[in-house]
Order: sequence, then C-alpha cells, then structure tokens
Amino acid sequence: MAIERTLCIIKPDGVRNQNIGNIVAMIQAAGFRILGLKLTRISPAVAGEFYGVHKERPFYGELVNFMSSGAIVPIALEKENAIADWRALIGSTDPAEAAEGTIRKKYATSKGENAVHGSDSVENGINEVAFFFAESELINNA
Ligand code: ADP
Repeated sequence: MAIERTLCIIKPDGVRNQNIGNIVAMIQAAGFRILGLKLTRISPAVAGEFYGVHKERPFYGELVNFMSSGAIVPIALEKENAIADWRALIGSTDPAEAAEGTIRKKYATSKGENAVHGSDSVENGINEVAFFFAESELINNA
C-alpha cells in the first residue's frame, strides 16, 4: 500500500467541546504520523474557498459559518493507506450513522457539527494539506 497524506481538521465544535486531546490520542493510537499541527482560525472567505466544491449544496452557507465560528486545528497526517484509514476512523458524516468507536460517533453532535474533517481522495489529501501548511513547515521524522 502507498504512503498517503490526509488532512484532519478538528472543527470548531471539537475545539469548543475540549476534544483536541482526545482526538489527537485516537490519531496517534491508530498509527498516523503527525507532520504538522496548528491552532488557528479562518475567515468565512477562507472557509468558503476550502469547501468550494460544496458551493451549490444547500448546506454551504451553514458550513462556511460554522467553520469560521471559532478556532480549528488542522493536522497534516501521513501513513500507508491514510485516506481510507482516516475515513474509517472518523466514521460517517452523520454521527447517528457513524460506527461505534469512531471519532464522529464519540464526539460529533450533528451532521453539520461533526468534530473532524477528512480528505476524500489521495489528490485532495495532498492539496488540502498544502492549503493549511507550507511544505517547509511539515516535519517528516517525528
Ligand atoms: P464528509 O466531511 O464526511 O466528507 P461531505 O464532504 O459530504 O462530508 O460534507 C462536508 C461537510 O459539510 C460535512 O462534514 C458537514 O460538516 C457538512 N455537511 C454535510 N452535509 C450536511 C447537511 N446535510 N447539513 C449540514 N451540514 C452538512
């Protein structure tokens, strides 16, 4: 299996609910390498750019408002099969449908406020990591 990158974002609800530590613990227990991690906040314009693919969806405005409503923690992750393994660890978009033991089952509150983001393809993993981190910021030997 190939080494892949994926972008985790601990969303504003995850930060507000004091789950940064719990989520990072699950990331490390699952064997992901953390290449970069920061606490930051994004404007509605930047949130809109990040989620541009969803522009036509009915929930776009709500999503942009939510993602710019408080601090977030983008985390650049790497491991073999990172895209699929991270999607499996976070669980379904809607926490009501997420499997037991997944991050969203444990920490998400609704389909919109669902604690974490995960890239959905190898290409998006690379691009989304680059959205938040300069290559020179990433640590490859942690
Ligand atoms: P995922 O994050 O699981 O890849 P999507 O790419 O479909 O899910 O959607 C991106 C994000 O948009 C979701 O994580 C969630 O925060 C929000 N979202 C998706 N569907 C809805 C919805 N029906 N109502 C409100 N927010 C939604």
